[in-house]
Amino acid sequence: MTSRYGEHDAEHYERPRRRTRPRTKDRPSYDDAVEARVVTVDRGRFTLLHEGRTVMAMKSRPLGRKGVVVGDRVRVVGDVSGRDGSLARIVEVQPRTTTLRRTADDDDPVERVIVSNAEQLVVVTALADPEPRPRLIDRALVAAYDAGMSPLLCLTKADLADPETLLSTYRSLGVPWVVTQLKGPDGASDLTELRSRLAGRTSVLVGHSGVGKSTLVNALVPDAHREVGHVNAVTGRGRHTSTSAYMLELPPHPDTDEPGWIIDTPGIRSFGLAHVQPEHLIEAFPDLDEMTEDCPRGCTHGADEPECGLDEALAAGEADQARVDSFRRLLAAREGASDW
Ligand code: ZN
Repeated sequence: MTSRYGEHDAEHYERPRRRTRPRTKDRPSYDDAVEARVVTVDRGRFTLLHEGRTVMAMKSRPLGRKGVVVGDRVRVVGDVSGRDGSLARIVEVQPRTTTLRRTADDDDPVERVIVSNAEQLVVVTALADPEPRPRLIDRALVAAYDAGMSPLLCLTKADLADPETLLSTYRSLGVPWVVTQLKGPDGASDLTELRSRLAGRTSVLVGHSGVGKSTLVNALVPDAHREVGHVNAVTGRGRHTSTSAYMLELPPHPDTDEPGWIIDTPGIRSFGLAHVQPEHLIEAFPDLDEMTEDCPRGCTHGADEPECGLDEALAAGEADQARVDSFRRLLAAREGASDW
């Protein structure tokens, strides 16, 4: 496999090829390219956001087979008016700050970038009806840590169960959480804390069906349906055909006026983690990472490792048992079935 961060690096994108092709008058120059953000992807057509306008685009030939994903910051030439029938061309993908990946299936080692440039992964979980599924939460956390994103637990249906039981499982990992209790169709009254945590950044929302994720999205972006409907109108296709993620702009935060973006992932039905390396996962926990400096080569830091530094730190009273156990639970959650 190629290096973790290397395969989509900027050097693969369009650059003047002076050695093989002399500069001529009609060579395209992208000085007039403008910046935009990828909102959704549907069969080779990209919906972009440029200065508040929705712009349709396709990849330019020099990008070749390079992936362009939701969240990408791109440079675009051509018709960026957003008028019906207009089509711009993506000529460059800016380097990504984060990449949320999944392996198609645990037995299929092909990993794909789902979303880029998102800072936060919001794991939406109902406290009851349906019951929380800690293993799925664990898997989402692994994906977040591996991506370099901060996780946030968003617990819905708090009127049905006490959050304490579930939260006790995640306390030692230091995962932040918010509780929402959606009442009525607007649900606006109790989203204050969540809105604060979403302001000024891009967050990806994941969660299996029935947890209230769609309700949450609609409450956060009151005209979400219209925006998504607009995308449908532009592409002429339903968003559920092949799209697995789309980005929505949040209303500015009422106190700080900060914008924010959420990326919903209705098409994601599994979260294969076969690509996640233990040595990368532990980097999300610097205090534990420090204890593994003298681990034998190839140590996964799992409970069955004979000479893991984590066990030595536990024996010496230098590590917190619950935290080590929780980390090892995440390690183990990488294996096995990936369905939501
Ligand atoms: Zn170890």
